[in-house]
Amino acid sequence: MFHYTRGRGIINAAPFFFDKSGPAFYHEAKAFSRLRPRFRDKRRENDMERTRLVVFTDLDGTLLEHATYSFEPARPALEALLEAGIPLIFCTSKTRLETERWRRALANVHPFIVENGGAAFVPEGYFGAAARFDKRDGGYGVLEFGRPYADLRQALERIRAASGLPLRGFGDMAVEEIAARCGFTREDAALAAMREYDEPFVGADGPALAEVERAARKAGLTVASGGRFHHLVGGSDKGRAVRALRDLYSRSRGPVRTAGLGDSLNDETMLREVDVPVLVRKPDGGHADMAGLPELVIAPYAGPEGWREAVLGLLQGRA
Ligand SMILES: [Mg+2]
Repeated sequence: MFHYTRGRGIINAAPFFFDKSGPAFYHEAKAFSRLRPRFRDKRRENDMERTRLVVFTDLDGTLLEHATYSFEPARPALEALLEAGIPLIFCTSKTRLETERWRRALANVHPFIVENGGAAFVPEGYFGAAARFDKRDGGYGVLEFGRPYADLRQALERIRAASGLPLRGFGDMAVEEIAARCGFTREDAALAAMREYDEPFVGADGPALAEVERAARKAGLTVASGGRFHHLVGGSDKGRAVRALRDLYSRSRGPVRTAGLGDSLNDETMLREVDVPVLVRKPDGGHADMAGLPELVIAPYAGPEGWREAVLGLLQGRA
């Protein structure tokens, strides 16, 4: 769609954005105006029509295909968002290092939410100097919502000892096992193991999972269920982090309209916070049970195919 991506893909556009210093959002806008002047007017129209739309998205099983992690089917919708200057915010159970890898792959310059809402990372200068953060780290302002990983590890060990369930978290697994369970390379699995706010675990489903949830609650923690793992988290959730970023957008840029896309139960709190909640289907054609969300849009297809259709529909005013 853009001449600098044609035949080479979004991946190769990444260095273009990342070679710059200073506020990322500004450079993205500048990149647009220099590369494709004819988009400038269209962009202004879009800004006016779609008063500051912001799109939040889960990654695994949603923007990325469940088994292959491909975003290729979503490309037309990704390019349409880029063209319209609409921020796309990753909101995932992945770690910061994994999410940064996907941001580079997709040339994404926007804030992102990691580890099921454990923290939100905002590129320096993105919301101007007035924005307040819990800490600054590695070129980001960081909003922290979760409890430290060491607390979660201790809690998981206590729940395992008390319940006798065969619970195993990432902290109990070698990198090779994480790689095998996720279909990752060893390098990607090493990034997934660098956890700060969320412990993915296996070893409990159905009634056993309910027992873990009860024990977690007693310790002031919660359990969120994603496409592959259950996650022990320190009272944070995706919705809380989405709310915080939405507030930063509206404070710095005026009122925003939000959309959110997910595939699993751990996305429900995110979907409850947005104006247009979208659930993509699972690879078998079914979808997660979110009966309590009346405005929910169910995408026609699974993963990135459903994502593409829902986002293009949103941009064409169908949602
Ligand atoms: Mg997912």
